[in-house]
Amino acid sequence: MKCRICAAQLGEPDYAAEAPALTDSGRLLDMRTEVYVCEACGLAQSPDIPNVTHFYAHEYKISLQAADHDQLVSLSDGRSMFRTDLQAELVLGLAAPPRGAAVLDFGCGKAATLRKMTDARPDLRPHVFDVSDDYRASWAEWVAAGQCATHVVPDAWRANFDLVMCHFVLEHVVDVPAVLANLRMLLAPRGVLFLSVPNALANPGDLLVADHLSHFTRGSLANALASAGLEVADINSASFPGALLSVCRARGATRDHAAIVLDPEAPALRQAASGWATIESRVREAARVNRGAPAAIYGAGFYGSVIRTLLGPQVGLCCFIDANPHLQGSTHMGLPVVAPADTPSGIRLVYAGLNPLKARAILEDQPHMKGRTIVWLQ
Ligand SMILES: [Zn+2]
Repeated sequence: MKCRICAAQLGEPDYAAEAPALTDSGRLLDMRTEVYVCEACGLAQSPDIPNVTHFYAHEYKISLQAADHDQLVSLSDGRSMFRTDLQAELVLGLAAPPRGAAVLDFGCGKAATLRKMTDARPDLRPHVFDVSDDYRASWAEWVAAGQCATHVVPDAWRANFDLVMCHFVLEHVVDVPAVLANLRMLLAPRGVLFLSVPNALANPGDLLVADHLSHFTRGSLANALASAGLEVADINSASFPGALLSVCRARGATRDHAAIVLDPEAPALRQAASGWATIESRVREAARVNRGAPAAIYGAGFYGSVIRTLLGPQVGLCCFIDANPHLQGSTHMGLPVVAPADTPSGIRLVYAGLNPLKARAILEDQPHMKGRTIVWLQ
C-alpha cells in the first residue's frame, strides 16, 4: 500500500484489529481495521473500503433518515449546536462570500449547510454536487435543476465558483490529490475553497472509522493542500471542536505545487493509533469484571458504537444514553437510545462512549450519571 498523499511505500500498521470494522454511521463492514502513519509525510491512513463507489452511491445516506436529523457539536464554551448550523455560520464568517456569489457544496448530501447559508444570505447562488442520486428529491425543493449535478461535475462549472465548500468529504476519498485538483479547477480566478475534515488528534476515534481513509492533522492537511497547488491562509482547529477548517486559494500557476514536509505531529498520531489496543483491553476487562451487571453506553455516536462492537451481545447492555434529542427514541445497533434523564434506575454500570479527551468533563457534569460506575476509555 502506498501513501495517499506522497506515494511513499507504507510499512507495518500502527494499529490493526480483526473484522468487523465500523463506519462513521455505526455500520459494520466485513474488513479488518488498519491504520498506517506514513514515515515520509506523516499522513495517517487506512485501506480502501470494498466497493467504494457503490457504498457512497447507494448505502451511505447520512442524514436522509429524517428531515431534521443532524449531529450535535459541543462547543468549547459549553453550548451545543447542530453541525449544519455551525458550518453555515463558520463558512459565512471565515470564507466571507461576496454579494451574489456562486457557491458549490461539493459532496453535500442533502446540503443542509448550504440551505441554511442561503436562508441567511438570499443573494447567494447555490449549486450542489454529490456521488449519489438519493438526495435529488431533497435538492429539488430549493435548488434550480441546472444547479444540481451527480456523479460527474459539468464542464460548464469549470472556473465558475466564488466559493467551493467541502464539509467532511476529503477524509472519505481514495485519491486525495485528484479530488483537490478537481476542486481547484472549479474555483473562479479569485475563488475560495473552504474545507473541513476531522482532526484525528483532537478526536482519536477518527483513526478507527473504516470509511475515513485519511485521518488528518494540521500538518498532513497542509501537505495535501500544498501538493495540490492550493495556498492556505490558515488552518483553524478552534472554531469547530474535533475538526480542522481551512480556507484556501489556488496558487498562481496551474502546476505551482509546494513540497511535502514531514508532519511534526506524526509521533503523537502513531501513539494515538497504538493506544487503541490499550483502550480495547480496558473495556473488555471492565466487562469481564462486571459480568451480568445491567449496563448502558453513554453516547450513541462512533465511540459508543466501538464499545458495542467490542463487547458483543453477551454483556448485559440495556440501552444507549444520548443527549441528542434527534437520537432519543430511536434504535442503534439493536439497542434503544434514551435521554440521560430516562436512564433505567437498575443500570449501575455506564461505559463512556465519548471522545476520551472530553468524556470526563461531559459526564462529571451530567446529574443523571451520579452514583453510577463509569468505565472510561482512558
Ligand atoms: Zn506520505
